[in-house]
Amino acid sequence: MQNNHIPPAPIAPADFQRALLHWYDGARRDLPWRAGPGEKPDPYKVWLSEIMLQQTTVKAVIPYFETFVTRWPTAEALAAASRDEVLAAWAGLGYYSRARNLYACAQAAARRGFPSSEAALRALPGVGAYTAAAIAAIAFDEPAAVVDGNVERVVARLFAVGEPLPAAKPAIRKLAATLTPKDRPGDYAQAMMDLGATICTPRSPSCLVCPVRRFCVAAAEGDARRFPVKAPKTAKPVRRGDAFVIVRREGSDPHILLRRRKDKGLLGGMMEVPCSEWAADAHKAASAPDGTWRYGRTVQHTFTHFHLEMRVLAAHHDAVRPAAEAFGGDWAAIANLSAFALPAVMKKAVASGLEALGVEHPGVRPSPKAAQKSSDVDIIRKRISRMPPR
Ligand code: SF4
Repeated sequence: MQNNHIPPAPIAPADFQRALLHWYDGARRDLPWRAGPGEKPDPYKVWLSEIMLQQTTVKAVIPYFETFVTRWPTAEALAAASRDEVLAAWAGLGYYSRARNLYACAQAAARRGFPSSEAALRALPGVGAYTAAAIAAIAFDEPAAVVDGNVERVVARLFAVGEPLPAAKPAIRKLAATLTPKDRPGDYAQAMMDLGATICTPRSPSCLVCPVRRFCVAAAEGDARRFPVKAPKTAKPVRRGDAFVIVRREGSDPHILLRRRKDKGLLGGMMEVPCSEWAADAHKAASAPDGTWRYGRTVQHTFTHFHLEMRVLAAHHDAVRPAAEAFGGDWAAIANLSAFALPAVMKKAVASGLEALGVEHPGVRPSPKAAQKSSDVDIIRKRISRMPPR
């Protein structure tokens, strides 16, 4: 990055917008939810993509977006699906409350039509300030200030905002609003997003080719990467628990015990193998019902607010029959697991447990070595505590 030591002139919004939109007209990303130049955006596609993009990358979202719009091309079609179908199609994309809210939103939109103002969009389930502004700007050309992580970074650099995030968010939002145009606000919002995603990237901003470099204080100071300033991170706590993978043979067709998580809370409404509580206190988590269990590989998974280390205990149904009954739930054909809304952490637990038992299923090839190793550590546990269904 070059330091020219010439401070930029205070940003004149009209000049800034002109420079940015000129660049966008030639360099815009071609994304499946984006209308082409001169085309009218489809509010359903804009809304669906914005919900999917919350906390998730464009690359990860594209295949999910394409599956959804192929299967459910309108909000009405999505509303007519069952919630389980929607959750199953979402599985793997994470942050599952978004899928539940998406479904609730589709139902509201099917009944009352799609709201078109930022304020009305904000009233939809799971639509926060950013998402409402983005949909209002992109789908309905409302001059709403759209500030996602990319835009936050660009604005923090343009104005060299010294206050650390997250405390600086309101100030950055105000600065972003001063730049938002009345003309072409949808293109402007997408241009800012594209600038943040392709030029003003977190670790290596390409200031030399940046279309708005002449307005940028951070670039003039030669220290773009210093912004946005971030408050020191606190370490995520670790929680521990057990997952129980129980397999029953029905002829040659193995089934696994699954149950549904409560609607509210983490992974709400998704399917799971029976689990203990996930607790910070390892002793609280270390409990298993009576039966003959094999250990699988311990599953590591990181959620927004904590890391999870989950032991996997696997068993054939006959070896843990009373425990299986106490867990509740239903038997699902392992060959048909992709039809169930299993979040990533549960897929890891299932893979680990099936591997320990030497049971194959699509996508999981148990290694004979791993199965042998697991059988060496067969354990018989006296009941320490019985797990209530979650
Ligand atoms: Fe970002 Fe550099 Fe452009 Fe400033 S000049 S907006 S720091 S890429």
